[in-house]
Order: sequence, then C-alpha cells, then structure tokens
Amino acid sequence: MAEQILIVEDEADLAQTIAFNLEKEGFRPLVVGTGTAALERIRGPKPPDLVVLDLMLPDISGTEVCRQLRQDSGTRRTPVLMLTAKTDPIDRVVGFEVGADDYVTKPFSVRELVLRIRAILRRTEGTSAPEPESLRFGILRLDFEGHRVWVEDEEVVLTALEFRLLKTLVQRRGRVQTREVLLNHVWEMSGDVTTRTVDTHVRRLRKKLGPASSYIETLRGVGYRFQSEPGITDAS
Ligand code: CA
Repeated sequence: MAEQILIVEDEADLAQTIAFNLEKEGFRPLVVGTGTAALERIRGPKPPDLVVLDLMLPDISGTEVCRQLRQDSGTRRTPVLMLTAKTDPIDRVVGFEVGADDYVTKPFSVRELVLRIRAILRRTEGTSAPEPESLRFGILRLDFEGHRVWVEDEEVVLTALEFRLLKTLVQRRGRVQTREVLLNHVWEMSGDVTTRTVDTHVRRLRKKLGPASSYIETLRGVGYRFQSEPGITDAS
C-alpha cells in the first residue's frame, strides 16, 4: 500500500502543489494547515508514514510540533521532513533540539522533495531490518560484525569509539548529523562533553581513513555527513 504523507503547510497553493506531485509519485498525500491539526492526525489511530512539516504555521511552529512528536514514545519515530526558509538555523532543526530527519529549504524543487522523502522512507524501513554484516563504498569496506575497516584492502585499526563514530555516520549516510546528535549517539551523553570532542575525533578518524576520508563531509557550523559517493553533494 502506498505510503501516506502528511503535508503540514498553511500556504494552500504550495500544499496543493506538493500533494499533487506526491500523488503522481505514488504516495497518498494528506494536507492539514495547522500544527494542532497535524498533531491530532499523527497521534490518531492511523499515523502517516512521513510528515512534511513547514516551520511557519499559523498556530504553533513546525519546530514545536516536531519537538512534541519527539517527546512522545508513540510518535518519536515518525519521520519528519522540515520545510525551512533560508534564514532558519538548520542546526537547530535537524539537531538534537528539534530532531527532524531532514530538511528542504524553500524554494525547493518538487523533485528534490520527492528524493528526500524516498531517502527517509528507505532509511526508516531499514531500521527494523537486520543490519548488513558488511558494507562497501568504493575503496572503503566495513565489517560491522567484526568491527573492522579496510581502505584499499589495507586494514585500518580504529579505536572502539572511532569505529562507533564511523558506524553511526555510515548508518545515517546521506543525512546531516549535528555534533549534538553524534555526542548523544556515539558518546551517549550530551552537555558534559563539548561539541569540540566530536571535531577532534572526526579529525582523527579522517586521518586514519586517509584516501577514504573524503566520504565524511563537513557541513560548516552544522555537523557531518557520510556520503556514499564522495564529491557528489546532493542539493542542499
Ligand atoms: Ca507556512
């Protein structure tokens, strides 16, 4: 059955354009115009598979909607793609504070939106599936079972923490990981350790990966992203 996408956007023209295109792509779109209506729908008996959430809504903001979803165990895993304006602080949106899965900056192409939606759905489908034992990206090979990494068939010795950091980036590949998210996920803490710790460890990891270090992309002021094909930056 086609995935249901809830579109939360008060600009009716834009909402209809998105809905029209999503339907054409085989999704089941549903439009609401307020944050309250969105929360009601998502907490209802048949929650959507993904939420396209605008930041600027007439009642409560998109960030507040997202924050509330993340606080509730029933809706914590609902994928959220945020629609942001150029001036919005992206690190807050995708970061620990709000916790959106990804974002698209207005004005965006419908094609980009659809690509992002498909990418998120692929990832969230995969969360219940067993993790593959090994993965290869060009010259980089990872063995999750054995905690081993090779670059150009030469084994790279990583510390447990470095492996965890790399594994987290790889598992969330294509998606921006803020320093706060990495701290929370890799170090299992937030606040106590400064975000500079993340930078230090990413630097060390990159040094060890040598020619494969380009897989880890820096998003200045935001965080890091693992790219399955380094050098090819998707539109963002
Ligand atoms: Ca709006």
